[in-house]
This record gives sequence, C-alpha cells and structure tokens, in this order.
Amino acid sequence: MAGDSEMQLPCPLFEGSEKRIEVGFAFGAGTPVDGLRSLSRDQLDGLMSQAACCIVSHRAEQDFDAYVLSESSLFVYPERLMLKTCGTTQLLAAVPLLLKLAQGLGMHACCTKYSRASFLFPEKQPAPYHAFSEEVAFLETQFGQLNGSAYVMGDALHGLQWHIYAAGGPERQTRCSRQAQASIEVCMTHLCPNKAAQFCRGANFVSAQQTTVSSGIADLLPGSDIDEFVFEPCGYSMNGLQGEAFSTVHITPEEACCYASVELTGCPDVDPAAFLAKVADIFRPGRMTVCLTSAAASSAHLSMPAPKGYTALGSSVQRLPGGATAVVHSLQLPKLGSVLTNEPDLAGQAMSEDARTDDDAMSSATALGLSGDIAPHVGYASSHSSESGLKGRPGSPDSPLLWAELQGVSGVKPPELQDAVCSKAMALCSIVTRHGAVPVPDGKPATIDAFLTRLIRQHGLEDPVCVVDLGAVARLFRDWMAAMPRVVPFYAVKANNDEGILAMLAALGAGFDCASDAELDMVLRLGVSPDRIVFANACKRPRDIRAAASKQVALTTFDTPSELAKLARWHPSARALLRIRADDPAARCQLGNKYGADPDDARALLKAAKEFGVAVRGVSFHVGSGATDPEAFREAIQLARTAFDAGTELGFQMDLLDIGGGFCSAAGFAGGVTAAVNSALAEHFPASLGAQIIAEPGRYFAETAATLACMVFGVRDGAPADAAPTRDYWITDGLYGSMNSLLYDHATVAPRPLRIASAAPDQAPRAESAPLTRGSIFGPSCDGLDTVLTDYPLPRLQSGDWLVFAEHGAYTFCGACAFNGMDPTPSIFYIFSET
Ligand SMILES: *Cc1c(COP(=O)(O)O)cnc(C)c1O
Repeated sequence: MAGDSEMQLPCPLFEGSEKRIEVGFAFGAGTPVDGLRSLSRDQLDGLMSQAACCIVSHRAEQDFDAYVLSESSLFVYPERLMLKTCGTTQLLAAVPLLLKLAQGLGMHACCTKYSRASFLFPEKQPAPYHAFSEEVAFLETQFGQLNGSAYVMGDALHGLQWHIYAAGGPERQTRCSRQAQASIEVCMTHLCPNKAAQFCRGANFVSAQQTTVSSGIADLLPGSDIDEFVFEPCGYSMNGLQGEAFSTVHITPEEACCYASVELTGCPDVDPAAFLAKVADIFRPGRMTVCLTSAAASSAHLSMPAPKGYTALGSSVQRLPGGATAVVHSLQLPKLGSVLTNEPDLAGQAMSEDARTDDDAMSSATALGLSGDIAPHVGYASSHSSESGLKGRPGSPDSPLLWAELQGVSGVKPPELQDAVCSKAMALCSIVTRHGAVPVPDGKPATIDAFLTRLIRQHGLEDPVCVVDLGAVARLFRDWMAAMPRVVPFYAVKANNDEGILAMLAALGAGFDCASDAELDMVLRLGVSPDRIVFANACKRPRDIRAAASKQVALTTFDTPSELAKLARWHPSARALLRIRADDPAARCQLGNKYGADPDDARALLKAAKEFGVAVRGVSFHVGSGATDPEAFREAIQLARTAFDAGTELGFQMDLLDIGGGFCSAAGFAGGVTAAVNSALAEHFPASLGAQIIAEPGRYFAETAATLACMVFGVRDGAPADAAPTRDYWITDGLYGSMNSLLYDHATVAPRPLRIASAAPDQAPRAESAPLTRGSIFGPSCDGLDTVLTDYPLPRLQSGDWLVFAEHGAYTFCGACAFNGMDPTPSIFYIFSET
C-alpha cells in the first residue's frame, strides 16, 4: 500500500501579482511634524484589516517606517503612504479609512497612484479587482477631485500588462517628491525551479537572513537595513531601508503559481539596466515585466539593454499626471517563447545545479504544464459503456478536437473562431473564461483528456472542472435543422443555463423556453428579443406571470382554467398555447402526471379561454424527457391537430404548433423520431395550413456539450473474505452536486480515469492491459446516500488522479446545491471543437 501514502494533491494557487497604492498628502495648519508617522499601531492594524492582511514585522528608519505584511508591504513616510498587497487582499477597501485617519491629522490627499500588473489568476480575485475599469470607478469615488487618468500598458498577448491610475501631483515640487517618483518595479513568472526552491522552509533552510544573503537579494541595494520573513511552508518577503529609499521583494515559489516581484523606490541614481541584470540573475525568470517610473523621461529608460540571455518583447511609454513618466518593458528567455508556442516537450530533461542556462526556465515552464505537447490519452472503454463506438462523439476520449479557449476578455480570437456565428456568440458572452488565457497550439489537434490534463496541471486545479464545447452546440443546431427543417428549436434553459451555451444558441438563431423570471433575464440579457421566447411553464407563479408581462414575453402555455384566470388577471396581452397530454410511456422522465390537459377536455378549455378573454394561438405538448418512441410523437402531433381545429372553430387565430422537448442527442436522434415528426407534420400540419412549428429541446443541446472532471481525494482498500479486493474512491462532486442527475434525471454515469498524479499521461496503462479493481465512488458530502457508483471497475488510481464524466451537460449543474457547505460550481472552460 506504499503508493497510497504518496498523496499528490495539488497545492492551492496563490496570486503573487500585487496591487499597489501610493497616496501623497498635504499638511494642514495643525498637522504634527511626523504627519502620517504619528498614526498609532492600532490605527495601522485597523487599516490593514480593512485590506484583509496584517502586519508581521516592523522596522523604523529616520525618514520612514517599513512593515512586512502577511501579504507584502507597507511604507509610511510623514507625507505619503505606500501599500502593496498580493493574494486576494482588498487593498482598495483600506482607502476610505486612510483618508479619514489623515483627515484626523489635518491632512488631505493631493496625489495618488494605483498600479498593478495583470493577475495570474484573475478569476480568484474579489470585486472590484475583476476588471480594471471597476477598480478605477472605485478610485474615482475616492480621488475624483484630483482629476485622475487610467492607463493599461504593455501587450495583451505576451507578458503581464501594467495598469496605472494616477491623479493629482505633489503639493510642492520638492527634492523629496521627485525622488519618491523614481521607482523600478519588476514582476517575474516562470522562475527557475532551483532558484525558487531557495525560498521554502525545506530541509536546507537555515534562517531568513541566510536566505537573503545566499540568494543574492542582500546585494540588490547594498548597505540597506533588511527586514525579511520566510513563510511556512514557503514564500519570502523583505523590506530594505536606506535613507529615504526602500527596496521590497516578494516571492511565491510554488511551481503551479510561481511569481516574484522586486521594487526599488527612491533611488533616482541607480542604473536600471544593471539593477535588472542583478534581479534576472537572482531568479532566472522565464518572463519579466519591468516598470520604470521617473520624474523625467530618460532615454536610458526607453532603450535599456536587456539582461544577458533575454529578448525584449516590447515596450510602452506613458506620461502620468504629476509629471512622471512610466516605461514598461517585457522580456523573456527565448526558449520560453517556444515552449509557450508548443515546441516538442522537453520534460524530464536533467537539470544540474550549475546549469544556469535558459533551460532552467524551460524546465520551469514544463513543470507548470505550459508545454504544449501532452501525449494523447490512451483510449479507455469502461465495461459500463454499452458501446465501443464512441469515436467522434463530443467528449469521448478519442474524438479529435481542434480546440481553442475563447478569450472573450482580451478579444483575441484564434483563426478557427473567426467564423461569424462564433464571434457573435463570443460577443454575447460577458464571461467567457474564468481562467484567463490558455496557450493555443495553432491548429493542432488535441483530445479533450489532453486539454483537461493541461488545464489541471497549469492551474493546479482541485475543484470540479467543466469543459463546455460550443463547437458541439453549433453542430447539434446544424444537425437539428438538417433533420427537421420546419421545426425551430426553442432551447429549454432549465437543462443547462450556462451562459456560453445560451449565447451560442442565441447567435445561431434559436429561440428559448423559459419557466421563471430569472430564466427570462438570462436570455433577455443576451439581447434575445421577447418574441423569440416561449414561457412554457403551464402553471406559473404569479410573480413569473407579472415578470413575463412586464418584459413583453407574450407566448406562454396553459392547461387549466386556473391558469387562464391568472393570465387574464396579470397578463391580458398573453398569447397562449393549450398544452395537451401525450405521453411516451418509455421516456426517461415522465411529465404527464403533472402537465397537459386530457385531449378530450381541449374544447372545454378553449371555451374557458374565450370566457376569460385570453387569446389562444396554438397547441403544445411534451411527450416526456429522454423520449425514444417515434410513435409517441406521431400520435401527439395528430392529437394536436384535433385541438388546433377546435381552436379555429371557436374563432381563435391558430397559427403555432409547439412539439415540446424530449429529444436525445447522445446517440444521435433516437431511431426514427425525426422521420416520424416530419411525416406526421406533413400529414397533419402541411405547409398549406400556415402554422409555424417550434420545439423546446433541452437535453438535446446540453447533454453532449459538457464534460465534467473531478479529482479523487481519498481512497480506501478492502479485502472482503472470499471475494476480490475492492478499492473505493472519494471525488469532489457527487449527488448533491452535478450528479443529482442520478436521482432526478434517472441518469447513469460511466467515468473514465485521467491519471494526473499516478502516472504521466503517456505512461497510462492501456485499458486492456490495466488490471481493474471494483469499488464504490463516493461524493464529498457526509451523507451515505452520496454514492455515485458501486461495484465500478477502474484501474488502480490514487489521490490526485481524476475521473472524467463525458456527456454530462443536461440536468446536472443546474440542479446542484451546496449541501455541507461544499459549493459544487465547476470551473468552466470553453472550447470550440471541430470534427
Ligand atoms: C423540461 C422541459 C423541456 C425540455 O425537455 P427535454 O427533454 O430536455 O428536451 C421542454 N419543455 C418543457 C415545458 C419542459 O418542462
């Protein structure tokens, strides 16, 4: 059982990239000489708790105080304060209290500068840090009177971008204020692993002071008074104080999120190129972005030589309010660029301690999972899967995909997404990716398992991951229109309300079936016009009817006089569809017990509508979800025609037939359903009748579009007497999460393994050769009912491996709840596959 102790669970990701604010103040008549330095420690602690961090160490110099924080640093001068925080801290939340405390000292803000590089994990940030525009909007509420400006510098494709909000200028141009404007800030990623390892409390750790000296950090600003801190189990922060100048270094050494920053402020005479060369030597980062700020633009800053071995990716210059100029340079080791654009994998390449070459960063990038070449997943067909012919179906392990993550935020579209429909879908999606950019291997086929492996490794993921394939949605739409050209699909939002799926269908021209106010909003937000919506809930809550009326959604269904009474009262301009009952007794989920009027009662209900003054324009039905019997559709269409004629006889303008949902896509349309629909329509609703035909498919579009992956985080071996050994697993999603479908949707699941921890993907044993052990798969909650599978055969997995659930998009995520405080919301990644 030795293997079990080798837990290979990912470490949580930490955001190293810092937010930084500097506020300069003017003294008032009663301000103490020490200005801000006269704030008490209690007051500063209160200020830091606003920002969600705390002081861990303090050093005082004649001119200022320097504090090491749980997340970065704070510097307090009499007339200015500089706060820098990393992680998910709330730096801006400290601003109102800062201004209030300063006011108590008779001081008022005269200038400010807020800056940050791009976040490595923007999705982990709280509001307002999701978007620079939101941060700026907040700053304007605090410093609006200073007439600020906001800039984003650098290339959105390569390296980190630099965001600056600057406002006001120093009250008087003093020597001190000019000096304060001089700063060099360096942000680094893809650190050489050997270099990063120095900043952990590992076996070789002696002391924080020793780390400062042996790493070379002590030489950055020679002769300064250094206050350093090495965190448990890893991470390093230091402040160096010298006269009025300070340096500050912060390091996140963990592989999956490694990052380091170095800042030197108040030393106008330091040669930036020489300083940068020292920094590059200490960390050997694969990529670095440097921002030089000075009182006057200096040509030395604009055409600075790159440190040895580095190539410049680009530079930007910006003049800031208050007179300073900012210059941003992005640099990288040349070999890193090739890793990022998918060169052959050099993983496993030996790295010797003295090999201070570019290969260090190279290996670092490989360790991050940035390497493009992940060997194709070896096909695995579980014995639970009823067929082996999975090829080409979305989400199957061996279906070739041309994938690309949609990058809605930056607006960058890979060439295969230039297609008009898809760009339109992207334009409609406000949140396309929650994990930023993933390198796109140009036109290179990748399997979904290779894509998942890359994502999981690159982001150090441990919570459930969902890959939504918008290409599959587009193909399903095309297949639908080819199979039933007269029937316009109105997608049933309840099956999966994912914004990408909704946006894609909206762009393709589908309509929508909504059943609540909230579902209406999701669809209307995408710009869908109200007449492309059917409110197909036959028994609506009063609040939903009022919402439909106020949002001008007229088309809705009814099957009782009581519903007609509600419509007459709250939605007099509704255009109603009579829902009749027409069940497929073999359908997976029955609806007839609850909805649909007996066809024999149709005439009476239509008469009641007349009396209530509700306008009826057609008939609808739903044979049951997951329907397979073509005859059920044929009979239902025939019954609908009878009710349709009754409506016409009673004087209604009957012009719409809604054939509901129930369609399957996992194995194509269920045999003969589309042919039965087409021939029944031709017979009972010929084009000459002039009726428009719509349907309400939910499962059809959602089911195969999403693939779920969950991590194994616990294993248990059993050896029952007289029986084969068993091996049980705990995974991060379960019956209270997306697998509620096992209860509510009568679903079955057949996950396949994804070896993230127990083997490199190219070493995964072939399904035929791997010995299988049977066991249970449990969800994460503390309920025994939360059992996903029993007696399920899998090759031997360990914690940190994953299970992949293909075709998991319908009636899964939308019904999940956070029982036990476990939020089952997966991280969503969008791909656009092509076959
Ligand atoms: C659930 C539902 C649908 C979608 O059914 P599928 O079987 O997923 O196609 C359509 N219409 C109504 C009224 C529904 O309740």
